[in-house]
Amino acid sequence: MSATSEPTASPQRVRAVVAIDGPAGVGKSSAAQRLAQRLGYVLVDTGALYRGVALSAREAGVSWDDGAALGRLAAGLDFTFTMDATGVPRLHVAGIDRESDIRNPAIARGASDVSRHPEVRAALLGLQRKLGEGGGVVLEGRDIGTVVFPDAELKVFLTASAEERARRRVGDMKQRGQEVDFQEILRSIEARDAQDSSRAVAPLKPAEDAVLLETSCMNLEQVVAHLVELVRDATSTHE
Ligand code: C5P
Repeated sequence: MSATSEPTASPQRVRAVVAIDGPAGVGKSSAAQRLAQRLGYVLVDTGALYRGVALSAREAGVSWDDGAALGRLAAGLDFTFTMDATGVPRLHVAGIDRESDIRNPAIARGASDVSRHPEVRAALLGLQRKLGEGGGVVLEGRDIGTVVFPDAELKVFLTASAEERARRRVGDMKQRGQEVDFQEILRSIEARDAQDSSRAVAPLKPAEDAVLLETSCMNLEQVVAHLVELVRDATSTHE
């Protein structure tokens, strides 16, 4: 705290923290990945951490409904990320690459279940802040702009209709060779949206000062180009 009555500027990070939030399947991961690559920033996929908790709980026999036990479990997990050759982050738990085990609808639902518990959110908060504290980072999730980095230099909240998001998800999964049913994906996206938006702690919602970006009529490249401009504007005002 300053000893004088003069207003003091808050210390600015040299490289920004960019918070990208939004609902399931809106394209946060793809957009955040490309944005981070263009800026030369680190990418942190915070959803992977909640998925890692759900997976570890299932393997340890801990119920996705037991907040206290989940909080203890989450606090003891050793999460790290590596980047693959294309700049996509891969989650490791206790040094083991678990990326392929967390990318399925059951674990996505489990992540939404475990993320309702304040004990789990508290256990993951410190790690998320540590990963972003130096700046030069794009964090994507649900509550980055509202809770994890309320002082982020740029907060963006991406939206698109549930149908459009389901179409995108089906396209991605087909590209990875997975067989999927559009209606089932749509139902699971709507169920996760409802649960993520209505939970008591850190619900999915835009920060008051977030830029809202409706992406239904934009392709990935247009979204990324727009994000690059937003980062430029946000960081030039801090120079
Ligand atoms: O982004 P992703 O689909 O991997 O997130 C999985 C789940 O993790 C979300 O549905 C949400 O419930 C939870 N999550 C969260 N807060 C974050 C990131 C993800 O609650 N910052």
